[in-house]
Formats: sequence, C-alpha cells, structure tokens
Amino acid sequence: MANATGMALRQVRKSFGGHEVIHGIDLDIEAGEFVVFVGPSGCGKSTLLRMIAGLEEVTDGEIEIGGRDVTNLDPSVRGIAMVFQSYALYPHMSVRDNLGFGLKMAHSSKGDIERQVEAAARILKIEALLDRRARPALGGQRQRVAIGRAIVRKPEVFLFDEPLSNLDAELRVSMRIEIARLHRELGNTMVYVTHDQTEAMTLADKIVVLRDGRIEQVGSPREVYEDPANAFVAGFIGSPK
Ligand code: ADP
Ligand code: MG
Repeated sequence: MANATGMALRQVRKSFGGHEVIHGIDLDIEAGEFVVFVGPSGCGKSTLLRMIAGLEEVTDGEIEIGGRDVTNLDPSVRGIAMVFQSYALYPHMSVRDNLGFGLKMAHSSKGDIERQVEAAARILKIEALLDRRARPALGGQRQRVAIGRAIVRKPEVFLFDEPLSNLDAELRVSMRIEIARLHRELGNTMVYVTHDQTEAMTLADKIVVLRDGRIEQVGSPREVYEDPANAFVAGFIGSPK
C-alpha cells in the first residue's frame, strides 16, 4: 500500500494581514519518515501543516512533495490526506459511508470503494463498526474512522494535526500505539503536529521543535533530548540539564 514520498520546505513564510507568523522555514523530510512538529500553542504548527496540505496559501517560499513544486497546487492533487483534531465525521452516515465518502466524490467504482473501505477497516480494527452510524461511536473509535478516511485515499503523505488531543489520557496512549503501528504497516511519510512532548518523543523519527514561527532544533528524539540546542528546547522537551 505504501507509496512513500519525500518532501521539502524552502524558505516558507506566512503572514496574516501583514503580520508574519512563519519566518522562513527550511526542512527536508525523507520518504517514509515520521516527522513531528512540536512546540507551544501558537508557535505555528497548524499553519505550517495547513500550508503543506494546501489549505493555507504560502506567502513566500516553496513546498515540494515528491520532488514536485506543489506550492500553488490544489489540495486534492498534492497526494496528501489530513487527520484533524476534531473528527468532522458525517454523523447521519454509517461508518462505511463516512470512510467511502471521499472516494465516492472522486467517482471511484462501487467495487473499488468497498475494497478500500474494508482494507482500511481491517487495518484499524473497526470492521464491526462499519454498518453503525458514525455519531454514537466513542472518541477512540471516531478517531479511528477519521484516520480510516485518510487511509482509503491512499495518500503519499499523511498529515496529522493534534489528532489525539480531544481524547482522555488512556485513549491517547492506546491511539498513539495504533498510529505507530500504522506507520510501520503502511510505511508512508507522516507529518504529525502536537504540543505534547511525550507524543513527539515516542512517535517521531525526526522531531522539529518550533517556537514563534522558527525552527529551534531538528533531530532524532534522542538527539533533541540528550543534546538540546538551547535552553528553550531543553525546557520544552524536559532534558535533564
Ligand atoms: P499552533 O498550531 O502551533 O498552536 P497556529 O499555527 O494555529 O499555532 O498559529 C500560529 C500563529 O498564527 C498564532 O499567532 C495565531 O494567532 C496566528 N494565526 C493562525 N491562523 C490565523 C488566521 N487565520 N488569521 C490570523 N492569525 C492567525
Ligand atoms: Mg494548532
């Protein structure tokens, strides 16, 4: 299923009404890598992710996905799928129809939709929910459905914006394990945004620590923990220094 693709951000900037909030970000992401953007609330994680997704216009700079300049391309042709913090499921539809909705809109055949939906449900262990309505499902199950909706689209890159922050602590831990398994199983490039250091440390191949729209450090969880670039990183990650 995997179709891993690298990515690059080149001097990416974003201003809202003349006020710059992302100040020239440069970053390379390898194919198949699990990259986590971590930093305090308001540091620009969502804005950066939304620019990668094409949901927010880039003020300056370039975004490449799979060696292709996608800076001005429509979200639908970027080969990405995004999972949000709020699940945004269609409450009146069954789980099956929620999963297949995007494919239906893209005019996939009934057989294809069925196969993709069943495959995603198997991966996420929600086969038993397929014919229930999405609304009554519990938080963890709803989040599985939201992730399933991304899987059926077979994206090259998965983007996650704080997907677990609405869940209670116990579910957060089990869903975190699920997401790590998903990455091992699918092998896709994943870019994951969180303000939770523990989530970042346990999921990431590469951590990108952000503050006020700038990168403070890029490194493996171990590098960032054992050799923080500055006092901010040490304090945020909780390094023993
Ligand atoms: P994070 O996801 O890390 O909490 P955001 O990307 O949401 O941070 O926000 C980064 C900065 O950009 C914040 O100062 C925020 O107020 C500002 N911002 C985000 N979206 C908008 C918008 N649509 N209009 C104006 N300012 C915005
Ligand atoms: Mg955010």
